Amino acid sequence: MRKLAFGYSTKCNIRCEHCVATEDLSADKKMDSDRAREIIVEMAQAGVGGISFSAGEPFLYFNEIVALVKLCQRIGIYTRMVTNSFWAKTAASSDRRVSELKKNGLCQLRLSFSRWHQKHVNKDNVLNAARSCQKIGLTYFISFVTDFSKADDPYEQFLRKHGLTFFPEPVIYAGRAASFKRRQILTDYQANCCDMNPYLTPDLDMYACCDAGTHFPETNFFYLGNLKDNTIKQLFAKTETDRLHKLIRTMGITHIASYTGMRAREIITYSKCELCRKLFNSPETVTRLKAEIPQLKAWCR
Ligand code: SF4
Ligand code: SF4
Repeated sequence: MRKLAFGYSTKCNIRCEHCVATEDLSADKKMDSDRAREIIVEMAQAGVGGISFSAGEPFLYFNEIVALVKLCQRIGIYTRMVTNSFWAKTAASSDRRVSELKKNGLCQLRLSFSRWHQKHVNKDNVLNAARSCQKIGLTYFISFVTDFSKADDPYEQFLRKHGLTFFPEPVIYAGRAASFKRRQILTDYQANCCDMNPYLTPDLDMYACCDAGTHFPETNFFYLGNLKDNTIKQLFAKTETDRLHKLIRTMGITHIASYTGMRAREIITYSKCELCRKLFNSPETVTRLKAEIPQLKAWCR
């Protein structure tokens, strides 16, 4: 099933230090709402079965997004919204918003939570939002963004204490977080395959992966094109037929890194997106890999 992260607007009401937005991308851009409706209908016709309203803070355009969610429900598209929960200051205000979303067919709410978000939004907002979802029967989960340092222990403890459903997500060292000191990690030697759900910006540029994909300035490796010059089907087909993109999905980034000559003990110090960036933001590596697809494909067990 085709899925897509829908960047209706890049506007956000807070400014997290770790945000993958860069200054140029974080300018307050917004899609025209009539055009957004047309695009969503075109997406359904192109076989898109899931849309995640992400990018800036979708609750800043609550009524417009709710209308898009309702449209998605009518034409059979699964919907998720990603939010920083600024709107859930009280249990009552939180219940009102969540009821509205549920009534209009939202399928899932994803609540962002981290020591960076919570400098701007009270932890209790996230708790209110999660409790409203539990009460009203809307599926939710908390995306706990972490650099796996001890500083995050109290935040994880908060989620555990309240019995909330959460999944840790490594901070992506791109955008504002590009200047963060890389943590020392040693992961398993895992394949690091990536689903690569495309991302659509308010300017109608489409990238083959989530917004981290917009941060490959040296190669523009994940850029697919703009909807002004292409159909949704054409842009999806580009990534679905791109041989390197396919290998990221099926072979995994770790094996591609190994093929290029990276030592195993270096590979295990990288998180998935960092390793991806190291390989595919390098013009030399991309040129080499494109020229050696048959050899790369043969690099398998
Ligand atoms: S991480 Fe999310 S909530 Fe924080 S500034 Fe970026 S878009 Fe806004
Ligand atoms: S691993 Fe690469 S393709 Fe996948 S989300 Fe990260 S940057 Fe995008």
